[in-house]
Amino acid sequence: MKKLAVIVPCYNEEAVITESYRRTKKVLEALPNPTEIIYINDGSRDKTREILNNIAASDPSVKILHFSRNFGHQPAVTAGINNCDADLAIIIDADMQDPPELIPEILALQEKENANVVYCVRKSREGESAFKLFTAKAFYRVMNYMSEVHFPLDTGDFRLVDRKVMDEFDRFKERGKYIRGLISWVGFHQVPFYYEREARIAGETKYPLSKMVKFASTAMLYFSKKPLRLATSLGFISVLVGIVLALWFTLGKIYGFSNAETGWTSIMTSVIFFGGVQLLTVGVLGQYVGILFDEIKARPEYIIDEKKNF
Ligand code: UDP
Ligand code: MG
Repeated sequence: MKKLAVIVPCYNEEAVITESYRRTKKVLEALPNPTEIIYINDGSRDKTREILNNIAASDPSVKILHFSRNFGHQPAVTAGINNCDADLAIIIDADMQDPPELIPEILALQEKENANVVYCVRKSREGESAFKLFTAKAFYRVMNYMSEVHFPLDTGDFRLVDRKVMDEFDRFKERGKYIRGLISWVGFHQVPFYYEREARIAGETKYPLSKMVKFASTAMLYFSKKPLRLATSLGFISVLVGIVLALWFTLGKIYGFSNAETGWTSIMTSVIFFGGVQLLTVGVLGQYVGILFDEIKARPEYIIDEKKNF
């Protein structure tokens, strides 16, 4: 029988953690497989640490990784996979937006298809703002346009991965991990599982706009060189526009169809416009240089303060 681990990143989740554990445990107990839950406490400042420690004290199948500070959702999931020795693992949020009650169906699908990855696709999402729904939809579509790999649309980190995929994942050395992208990138046999995403049972989202933007730009920059190519295209277009305008004004002067002297507005507009284009392209370049800077330092992605029940 294959051993199943459930990997749960938690950041300030005191409002949901007890209920989340109860529901997950209930599902796991009904399975014939040996199971465990790995909680990653991503430097929570509330009571998450104490609550998790209490759970682990009474249930030896609950393992905990306490981070030394908040490193972020993706490093937390990474640590979960890196420290998992099970045959199968399911990555799930602490807030029960992805219902653990689906685990038996996901497992059955894995078995039936003999899949290495079962990725869960959101048919609908409850309790999210119109803004979040729109930006998320747009993000997955832009990502697919930008990236050299094809990603399944509307798919988060809620998925099942097998030992083979986890072993490959452990070999990734990059610091800026866009996990859902990397798992697609690995290949093997991946099958979709459709579900309705629910609202958070309590607490607030730990992904404010600033974190969403950072997440999206990591995904974009690590999976695509298209922004650089777009910058080059912009440069080409500017040069073309410049040549056409120069011809127009010169010929206009000679044949008298343009009066270029009255050009304060046109000069200001083009100075500002091309200044903007230059800053933008330098900015894009800077983003990639920034990534090189981070990657070359090769700092650890996360620091573990304490392990429980490992
Ligand atoms: N999370 C984390 N570290 C962070 C932010 C979030 O471990 O810095 C966890 C969080 O506790 C939750 C999961 O990642 O279990 C997803 O976060 P959240 O539900 O807030 O995101 P949303 O579903 O709103 O996009
Ligand atoms: Mg959530």
